[in-house]
Amino acid sequence: IARSRRFSERVPVPSGRDEMAQMAATFNAMLDSLQDAYRLQQRFVADASHELRAPLTAIQANLDLLEHQPDLLPADRQEAAAEASREAQRLARQVGDLLTLARADAGMPLHKERVELDRGLLESIADARHLARGQRVDLAALEPSLVNGDPDRLKQLILILLDNALKYTPAAGRVAVALHRDGATATLTVQDTGVGIAPDDLPHVFERFYRSDPARARDPGGTGLGLAIARWIAEEHGGTIRIESRPGRGTTVVVCLPTAT
Ligand code: ADP
Repeated sequence: IARSRRFSERVPVPSGRDEMAQMAATFNAMLDSLQDAYRLQQRFVADASHELRAPLTAIQANLDLLEHQPDLLPADRQEAAAEASREAQRLARQVGDLLTLARADAGMPLHKERVELDRGLLESIADARHLARGQRVDLAALEPSLVNGDPDRLKQLILILLDNALKYTPAAGRVAVALHRDGATATLTVQDTGVGIAPDDLPHVFERFYRSDPARARDPGGTGLGLAIARWIAEEHGGTIRIESRPGRGTTVVVCLPTAT
């Protein structure tokens, strides 16, 4: 099995409850988890290649146009160059997100220190306001919260949630952010009045590359990796993340993190 990498093979388990039977059963259980991990890895590589191909195809098509159509109107040339540049940015985002997840899978330890979550939140909100297309971004509550964590990753987590809230909320909408501290738990809530998520999509949004059809139509530049990264960061800090949504009404994401003592 080791040489052929046929992780679907199993060793025969002798009848009885002696040590040989126990060892064979343990060995098979180990093969079950190896097979799962191997399958997941293969799917991840297949999905990643598929997703990376879309921006590459668009870049290639626009460069071909610029190279082989010398009499294109200046406005069309400009549009082709802009499109190629947008797609290159999307590719860069995808590769960045894939690298983050590859590090997560490799079990890279986070660099942890005492972090003032409230301060990180204020900085992230200031960044997010630049991304707003008219939506209000309100701070509903800000209770001082110290956590033992990686400041850059925690900021990345907050920005993923704010970015999503803004992407999927129309210009007239509102995003409300709150940070509460209750005993040993800091609770961050990001609530929007956006398009919401259909009940069928909701159980899948933390999966890698999962994007609802309305999301693909609204924001073709997304990577479908944001929430997978957000969940990894929350869990690496001993926390949880959950999402509630009502289509057409809005979405609320709640992150709970243990506070530093
Ligand atoms: P991306 O936003 O790049 O598509 P994410 O992993 O961050 O990837 O999100 C996965 C999917 O979850 C999105 O494609 C979208 O369908 C849905 N989603 C996430 N956040 C929101 C939100 N605030 N409002 C509506 N849909 C959301």
